[in-house]
Formats: sequence, structure tokens, C-alpha cells
Amino acid sequence: MNLILMGLPGAGKGTQADQIVAKFGMPHISTGDMFRAAIKNGTALGKQAKSFMDKGDLVPDEVTIGIVRERLSQDDCKAGFLLDGFPRTVSQAEALDAIMTKEKSQIDAVLYIDVNAEHLLARLTGRRVCANCGASYHVTYNPPKKEGVCDRCGGQLTQRPDDREETVHERLEVNIKQQKPLVTFYKGKNVLKKINGDQPIDRVFEEVSRVLGAIAQ
Ligand code: ADP
Ligand code: AMP
Repeated sequence: MNLILMGLPGAGKGTQADQIVAKFGMPHISTGDMFRAAIKNGTALGKQAKSFMDKGDLVPDEVTIGIVRERLSQDDCKAGFLLDGFPRTVSQAEALDAIMTKEKSQIDAVLYIDVNAEHLLARLTGRRVCANCGASYHVTYNPPKKEGVCDRCGGQLTQRPDDREETVHERLEVNIKQQKPLVTFYKGKNVLKKINGDQPIDRVFEEVSRVLGAIAQ
């Protein structure tokens, strides 16, 4: 299955991606994770992306499309993939379409995790991420067993710089503006599956599983 997880920042894409990948086993391709890894490794891509990410802006389309094109050409994507946080603009969606057409393939479903925008501020400012393995928690909605420590690997939990309140507002504004035309784009292609993201994490995954179960048949 070739899948896209769509939703505003904080909608729960990364959280659901972990569970989808554990159940279905396809590679998880998060452009945000790729940019953060590039920043951590001090690469040219990281330097380019950092200034946009720090402000809560989108990294330019040509840069983002380039890294996704390269990633999708790798062998582990041939049997299916899960895109998370890409596409975020209609230009990116059109570029992805062109890549898929060239590969004689298609996107099977776009899981659109719909969350009331009012809930997102609390989700983002309360998010904590393991500095070692990247596992994601929430101080209230999904706390680790021991405060500040990753359940999975014992690493230290940190706050993403772009999850601080001063950046979050700009990020939400930028993404809300881009999301509407993207929803229209995928509705037009008949692949959009709306998921109610305003439920506890396990309930959201039950809904996701039902949708994917029907597609996989
Ligand atoms: P995204 O990848 O879409 O930006 P995340 O999956 O990282 O979002 O989730 C953002 C924050 O909200 C995390 O701290 C996560 O633990 C929490 N979260 C995710 N899904 C839910 C949910 N259904 N209910 C409450 N909190 C959630
Ligand atoms: P995320 O981890 O998905 O919340 O993304 C973090 C940041 O990475 C975003 O605020 C953008 O600056 C950048 N980013 C991630 N994905 C994209 C994308 N598809 N297009 C442009 N910028 C992106």
C-alpha cells in the first residue's frame, strides 16, 4: 500500500505512523524527521532547512520534493510506503503524482487526521520527543512512565524547538492555509479517507485500521 498521512501539526500523524508501521511493516517517510536528522548531522540540507523550520515556515517545495523523490526511489519503497507530512502543498502533491505515474504506481489512500484546530496548541506545546530514538510522548495525553525519560530506550525527553509557543502559532497558520486546497486535491482523486483525530490515540488507530483493512483486501 502507498499511503499518505495528512493532518495539521499535532494531529497525531507520527503517533499513528508508529502503529501503522508496526502492523503493516512499510517504511515510514517523514519529511520533518528527515530534516531534523539533516540538522543533527550538520549537512547542507540541514543548514538550508533550519532557517525555515525555526520560523515555523515550510521548507521550499523544490528542496522537499527533491528529498522525497530520492527516498521513494530506494528499494524498500517498492512494496509500499507511508508518507507523513508530505505533501503539504498542492505543488508537492502534483510532483508526487508525477513520480507515481513515472513508476506506473499510485497513491492508494490519504488518511486525513482531522482535529479541531483549538486542540492543537495543547498537543504541540505538550509534545516531548526522545533525543535518542525519536519516540514521541505528551506530558498529559501520553506521558512516559518516568517523567522526562523515554520508556523505549531510557533516553532524555526534550521539546522540539518549533513546538515552543512562539513558533507554534505561525506553524499552525501556515499549515491551515495550505491544507484546504490539498484536501480538495485528494477528494477530487477519490482517495481521501477522513479520520476523526479528536479521540484517544487507540480509538484513532482503530479507525485507521478499519480503513486500511478495507483497502488491503
Ligand atoms: P504530528 O506528527 O501530526 O505533528 P504527533 O503524532 O507528534 O503529531 O502528536 C502530537 C502530540 O499529540 C504528541 O505529544 C502526541 O503524544 C499527542 N497525541 C497524538 N495523538 C493524540 C490523540 N489522539 N489524543 C491526544 N493526544 C495525542
Ligand atoms: P513536522 O515534523 O512534520 O511537523 O515538520 C516540521 C517542519 O519541517 C515543518 O514545520 C516544516 O518547516 C518542515 N517540513 C516538514 N515537511 C515539510 C513539507 N512537506 N514541506 C515543507 N516543509 C516541511
